[in-house]
Amino acid sequence: MKQQIISVKNLTKQYQTEQSSGVSDISFDIESGKIVAILGESGSGKSTLLKCIYGLLKTDEGEVHFKGKRVLGPDEQLIPGHKEMKMVTQDFSLNIYAKVYDNIASMLSNTDVQGKKDKTFQMMRHLNIEHLKDKKITQLSGGEQQRVAIAKALISDTSLLLLDEPFSQVDALLKNQLRADIKRIAEETGVTVIMVSHDPADGLFLADQLLLIKDGKLLQQGEPSFVYNHPDHIYTARLLGNAVVLHAAEAEKIGLQAKGQAVVFYPEWAALKSSWNSKRFEVKDVYYKGFYEELLLQRNGVTIRAIQLNRGEHKKNDHVQVNIDHFLRF
Ligand code: ADP
Ligand code: MG
Repeated sequence: MKQQIISVKNLTKQYQTEQSSGVSDISFDIESGKIVAILGESGSGKSTLLKCIYGLLKTDEGEVHFKGKRVLGPDEQLIPGHKEMKMVTQDFSLNIYAKVYDNIASMLSNTDVQGKKDKTFQMMRHLNIEHLKDKKITQLSGGEQQRVAIAKALISDTSLLLLDEPFSQVDALLKNQLRADIKRIAEETGVTVIMVSHDPADGLFLADQLLLIKDGKLLQQGEPSFVYNHPDHIYTARLLGNAVVLHAAEAEKIGLQAKGQAVVFYPEWAALKSSWNSKRFEVKDVYYKGFYEELLLQRNGVTIRAIQLNRGEHKKNDHVQVNIDHFLRF
């Protein structure tokens, strides 16, 4: 059996505000070497959870164990956190007047000068920032600073890397690169990564395990493809795949038997094909999405969305046959 690096048990942390805030009764385990994504809309409690794992916040109830030992809170030790854990937040905490090389190297002791140099260069290569080694942090873009911050966090025998919204300051192109880098580095170094994001694309691409949180509660956890295909809550389907959500009455109007409150499906589950149970819809709009198009479709006053891979095949005001043979009931 694989070793569990993090074990969170019944963790509760409420802030002293009138409304409920923070996180409540959260439990999960993380296996060593995995990439875990905590996903949830803004204000759902992601950063609070990360800070509790790191030991920055005093928990009200419950415990976090790191490699079998309880993580101490800020009231129990002077310097929060554990030396094998590093957290990178959106402000990066870099020495902005120092060079890239010195920012990273400063994490290592001077007892082995050559070793320090070798390790720093190796880490810079890992993050593709070797060419920036003599630049000051102020001369770097947000994405480059992010890479330096991650290099700095990883260099000192870190076994758990915590990333809070790591892609929020990075443009789309760099985002793809950085995502791929994090995955590669995790594989190469064996470091366990917990990252927090409100953007599902980050988690689905990277993670071995997804944790969905809403209003401070853990709704569901599992492998990304499983959670995507078997969401326990409408919120999850909305967040992960921009799902179409129809009330029971709307569902019936387009021929779907609701049986409960609502019917949910992802746009790609609405197949543009005729079959014995397909229904006729009118194309109300077409959205360009790069290599595919999203069609806004209507029947009996009910609007749904479907994916059109053959761009231009159906246009606005056309009529199409749609077959929704797979959908979820809530
Ligand atoms: P997320 O990172 O998912 O956006 P947070 O963990 O930052 O969410 O916040 C979760 C909830 O707790 C929010 O309602 C937020 O307003 C509240 N909260 C966060 N930090 C504090 C604080 N220091 N004092 C009071 N309320 C807070
Ligand atoms: Mg946050």
